[in-house]
Amino acid sequence: MHPFIAKYLFYCLEFLRRENVFSFLKELEKNQYLSKSEISVLQKEKLNKLLKSVMSENSYYKRKYRGYDPIVDFASLPILTKEELRENYKALVTNKNQKYMDMVETSGSTGIPLQFYRDRVIFGYTLASLYRGHRWWGIDIGSKEAMLWGVPVSYKNRLKVKLKDIVLNRFRERAYNVNVDTLLDFYKKIQRKRPVYLFGYSSMVYEFAIFVEQMGLIGQDLYLKNIICTAEKINSFQKKKIEDIFGCKVISEYGATEAGILSFECPMGCNHISDDCVYVEIVDEKNNPVPDGKEGRVLVTVLHSFSSPIIRYDLGDIACKSTVNCSCGINLSSLEKIIGRTSDVVVTPHGQTYHSIVFYYFIKDFMEKHGGIKQFKVRQVAIDKLEFHFVIDHSSKKKIELYIKKQVLDKFGSDMKVAFIYHDYISRERSGKLRDFETVLDVALYKTNCSLKGN
Ligand SMILES: [Zn+2]
Repeated sequence: MHPFIAKYLFYCLEFLRRENVFSFLKELEKNQYLSKSEISVLQKEKLNKLLKSVMSENSYYKRKYRGYDPIVDFASLPILTKEELRENYKALVTNKNQKYMDMVETSGSTGIPLQFYRDRVIFGYTLASLYRGHRWWGIDIGSKEAMLWGVPVSYKNRLKVKLKDIVLNRFRERAYNVNVDTLLDFYKKIQRKRPVYLFGYSSMVYEFAIFVEQMGLIGQDLYLKNIICTAEKINSFQKKKIEDIFGCKVISEYGATEAGILSFECPMGCNHISDDCVYVEIVDEKNNPVPDGKEGRVLVTVLHSFSSPIIRYDLGDIACKSTVNCSCGINLSSLEKIIGRTSDVVVTPHGQTYHSIVFYYFIKDFMEKHGGIKQFKVRQVAIDKLEFHFVIDHSSKKKIELYIKKQVLDKFGSDMKVAFIYHDYISRERSGKLRDFETVLDVALYKTNCSLKGN
């Protein structure tokens, strides 16, 4: 479909859905060039408006914040957890605003389904925030898109997604249970349909890049302008490999179904936070703010969530804010690192805890020296045992095993046993995501002193 027709179709669709994406986009594109202090004032105004609204109209929050002045005591307000959202999503809805609400469902990082309500304003701002990021790279609404993404299970939802894909000028390959035939078909489809960009789960796009390389296909023949990776942290070796094979820049998008777009990478490499849509706090174990440049848990407040407020919501992620100003001209603040999920914790036989990001550093160092690992996953199957699952390319098993054993010994001590399991393919979750760490331990029992340092 011609991008102009696609943009017009999208305009009609969002007009019918009353999402106001175009007017929100205009507003957000103006905000990004305000000075840092003006953005901060705007964000505070939006935050205070939301807090005033919940204290006068939302009975759930009125109860939750009893004894607090939410505007003055914001940093000490009780947080909203995933479990709380899961159990109270109906009660969280603001009494007077039940019109134009949609029920949204996500698998959540734990795999336990999470349902909640979202109104059209939130949908509109989320899309506007996404398109603002796209437009930093010259990708406009209506540009043709190839997707490596999930496909719904039920026939009705599959049909809905198919129609949406047509209107939004995109086509998809399911990111679950792929094989040589489906990936080859996807490659040919991209060659034939000439999308402007590819969008997908980081690990799945990486897998596609490796497939293209191994099949002797030419990634640059696809003429992709950009590749947008999301939903999982993208490792630097994955990013480099994808960029080398397809000959275009990989862009990181960080978001959550519950909160919308949190950050989007600009052409200078900064992950700019959508300060005018979300208020992001980085806090320590006691919910106290940590200085910029230091890792902590991500709390998010969705600034336009009047109908079903999301305030100080613990996303279950670890990240840190940047201390440097970006030179791209956009004055939104930025995240320096997005590290991963708080639940991904390794426990040693002596009770010490580390974030599973340590494995990323293990693999990254190995890949920089030797390359050859196509997929990996680590499972802690007992307090003193780690299983390393690999799909490898040309690297010798012996080299990997010696390297991993040494890293584990140095990091976790001699009581931690290691097992290696090799596969042709490591299966993904039904959504298409690939979890690179799993544990059978109840990490909440150990997590009080988790070290976030990878090295
Ligand atoms: Zn920038």
